[in-house]
Amino acid sequence: MATVAGVAVEPGHWIGGERAASGAVFTDVSPIDERPIAEIARGGPAEVDAAVAAARRAFPAWARTGRDERARLLHAIADGVEKRTEELSQVETADNGALIRSHRRGVMPRVAHNFRFFADRLLGLGHDDFDTRGHANHVGWDPAGVCALITPWNAPLMLATWKIAPALAAGNTVVLKPAEWTPLTASLLAGIAAEAGLPDGVFNVVQGYGAEVGGPLTAHPDVRRISFTGSVPTARLIAAAAAPNLTPLSLELGGKSPLLVFADADLDLAVDLAVEQYDNAGQVCLAGTRLLVESSVADEFTARFVEKASRLRQGDPRDESTDVGPLIHRRHLERVDGFVRRAEEAGARALIGGGPNGELGGLYYRPTLFTGAPDGAEILTEEVFGPVLTLQTFDTEEQAVAMANGTRFGLAATLATGDPERARRVTERLVAGTVWVNCFFVRDLRAPFGGSRQSGVGRGGGDWSFDFYCDLKNTVTAPWAR
Ligand code: NAD
Repeated sequence: MATVAGVAVEPGHWIGGERAASGAVFTDVSPIDERPIAEIARGGPAEVDAAVAAARRAFPAWARTGRDERARLLHAIADGVEKRTEELSQVETADNGALIRSHRRGVMPRVAHNFRFFADRLLGLGHDDFDTRGHANHVGWDPAGVCALITPWNAPLMLATWKIAPALAAGNTVVLKPAEWTPLTASLLAGIAAEAGLPDGVFNVVQGYGAEVGGPLTAHPDVRRISFTGSVPTARLIAAAAAPNLTPLSLELGGKSPLLVFADADLDLAVDLAVEQYDNAGQVCLAGTRLLVESSVADEFTARFVEKASRLRQGDPRDESTDVGPLIHRRHLERVDGFVRRAEEAGARALIGGGPNGELGGLYYRPTLFTGAPDGAEILTEEVFGPVLTLQTFDTEEQAVAMANGTRFGLAATLATGDPERARRVTERLVAGTVWVNCFFVRDLRAPFGGSRQSGVGRGGGDWSFDFYCDLKNTVTAPWAR
């Protein structure tokens, strides 16, 4: 048992309703101070086989469990999450370095909401039967089977439950592989689910590294769905592993999203939206990291942005007044810094930031804004996943749209404009799974969520999640009386 932020956390896997150890362990390090916080079981093919087998055994009974009962259990898990919001927030902050204030007020309530939303949605799921020349068509939403869920470290419990909740609601059983940099809250969730009364084997967790656990899990012939959130290179490996079994995939991947600021925008709002992109130290898939600003207001916008961004308080994420915490890991800091160094070499100039925060040391990287990056520069096209934004200018709407769409990604886009007609015209032409107009990060679980191009495959949310986690079955019945 490890104690993290005063909370006892089981370091093992959770397989078939029991904690399981492995011979090997790996060390979990807190990004706050780079100190080790727990030794976690390091799974491999044997644990994957055991977890998939447990999930397979539990599947028939869970699939037959009535919708009302499944929904009741999901609400009971949400109750458990709500009861432990503070513990979960503390542990998540220790593990991934994101702000305690976001965990307390935004993330953990959303974790509970993930369960409540899909529980309630399940109860209304279905189509009206329809008639074909006297034959009745009935569409059934059958659970698919064992689902492999693989998640990243930037919002561990939120992203895991965004998959777990609809998968379980639909009547599937689950094997979750959390990111190795943030294994802890998945372990706490296993305890919460067990206390809520979820039957053994319905939800399983295998801890460990991507290649050692994720590899065999995604290649497993008994897995019926793979849902992955993470990077494009890993998605390619997963797609290849899934190919022999043709296992259906949901992929939620990276982005290089634009934030377009038109001259007719409320500039204070535009600056607020732009500075918000440093949230979670920029480790947000949806972040609008490319600021595209109309030339006539660029100087004014830049001055106000620099003034506001310079006031951000960087420091310990456990402090409620901190705005920007650390990066997740030394390896990630080096990656982010590599992008920054190469951007400078390519001729871009950092107006603010440009390196680690010398006063804080450790993994704290200064919020950075680049201008003058040459067309096609890596910093304008590749996802950095850190507090690094670029600023480019445009003169026409046409040019703005071309720049916005000019990467291989298509996750999100944000627009600041005072003209509703322009908002409509531009939105129509943007390639993005989500477009925010004069706002950012407003999320409703009824809406479809996902990415276009290399930002992903498929959509979650609303009934789109059930589309993925169910095998739809149409039954056509001839008239009984002849
Ligand atoms: P990553 O791809 O390195 O890892 C994600 C998960 O995949 C981890 O659990 C990892 O262990 C596992 N993995 C690694 N190799 C594997 C393999 N061969 N087979 C199976 N699983 C394997 O991503 P990351 O660095 O943890 O997360 C950051 C990325 O996630 C960014 O690109 C970000 O944009 C993206 N992301 C996307 C969304 C979204 O909703 N679109 C949300 C959050 C993060």
